[in-house]
Amino acid sequence: MTWEKGTQTFECEGCSTVWRAEYINLPVREKGRFECKDCGTLVIRWNGGVDYSNFQRVDTNEA
Ligand SMILES: [Zn+2]
Repeated sequence: MTWEKGTQTFECEGCSTVWRAEYINLPVREKGRFECKDCGTLVIRWNGGVDYSNFQRVDTNEA
């Protein structure tokens, strides 16, 4: 069995902050959610087969 992992980005619908998370596909039922650290909007919710961690703000203000 191979575990897939990588990074994925999500944009907050509340304040447009972009978050990058690391994900890994797990053979277990793992559930969780991530709420924007800036405005509290629910950005993503997952339930089974994958787990997300290490959410970090992506700087979108590059000149
Ligand atoms: Zn937000």
